Amino acid sequence: MKSLEVNLGDHSYPIYIEKDGNSLSSFLCPHIKGQRVVVISNTTVLPIFKSQIALALTDFDVSYYEMADGEANKTLETYHDIMTFLLEQGAARDVTLIALGGGVVGDICGFVAATFMRGVNFIQVPTTLLSQVDSSVGGKTAVNHPLGKNMIGAFYQPQAVFISMNSLKTLPKREFAAGMAEVIKYGILADRDLFEYLENNIAAIQQMDDDVMAYIIHRCCEIKAEIVAEDEKEQGRRALLNLGHTFGHAIEAEQGYGNWLHGEAVAAGMVQACQLARLRGWINESDVSRVITLLNAFDLPTSGPDSMSCDDYIKHMKKDKKVKASTIRFILPKQLGQAILVSDVTESELQTIL
Ligand code: NAD
Ligand code: MG
Repeated sequence: MKSLEVNLGDHSYPIYIEKDGNSLSSFLCPHIKGQRVVVISNTTVLPIFKSQIALALTDFDVSYYEMADGEANKTLETYHDIMTFLLEQGAARDVTLIALGGGVVGDICGFVAATFMRGVNFIQVPTTLLSQVDSSVGGKTAVNHPLGKNMIGAFYQPQAVFISMNSLKTLPKREFAAGMAEVIKYGILADRDLFEYLENNIAAIQQMDDDVMAYIIHRCCEIKAEIVAEDEKEQGRRALLNLGHTFGHAIEAEQGYGNWLHGEAVAAGMVQACQLARLRGWINESDVSRVITLLNAFDLPTSGPDSMSCDDYIKHMKKDKKVKASTIRFILPKQLGQAILVSDVTESELQTIL
């Protein structure tokens, strides 16, 4: 068992990382306040883990809400349906919600927790690599609006995050790879040693070696926790976590959400960000090749769709909600292991690399 703390004053919380889910009970239960627990999950994940969760929660009065699987259900309709379920179940302010699933379940459960009875306890049990290294940590919660992704939400921190390596074993290969894109992102933006560790342990990662994965997840959570502790509401440094995302969001929006997984779009977007940094002389050709080689090891895309023109990218980038005063913001590597935010990228630079 590894653990670390996200330091946010009176709403600090621990992240536990372990191999097989056996410690679930001893680490989860102290964070449950009353007797009532509602596990929010989906039709894919709940059948896999229900018996394990039930065993860990035998001392509590537990009910289960199963949402339909997929990003398309991260909506106000599902949110409303969960609220109805909670009220019908007689849940009150002392209820603890447990988000059991990937980022979709975590985001919607977090937003329910932030707003049900003006805020109740919630615990994240992320089951995808992406949610373990990214969405379960940091307190961003949201649902989508037809006019934009994550447009309705709140900053709301969980009481604890519980990560088990065990859950990676059933994850589809493509979802695992999408999570690896975000892992590689942390190496490029904040930790050259992590980047080199990934390069040196490709086979062990492909086989999901427990010790190697636990080390990697722990390190990614540490980096995210450190950045979030400094800038909880993304007014500054937290934006660095969006390396590859300006391009990535444009690809996702152009291709229709769901055709490219988010992590896949971020993978291509990181290469594009690296090429911009290369153009500016911050990193060299060999650094760009190392990033591409590492992404290739997980069958991740390293360029955008052929059909997308530079204008297509710009059109979507200008719509990005992170755009300030119509200047497009990019996170670029200053060197491998260090990223900076720039907002002076010219159209001609974009033309060159796209
Ligand atoms: P996801 O939640 O859709 O999960 C991917 C797929 O894997 C789903 O079909 C899911 O049912 C399945 N699955 C989950 N765990 C499994 C397991 N252990 N075994 C087998 N199948 C399993 O996608 P995701 O990539 O985890 O999360 C993406 C979402 O996270 C997006 O909505 C995104 O906006 C959000 N997100 C939020 C933040 C944040 O800071 N809040 C950060 C990044 C992403
Ligand atoms: Mg992301």
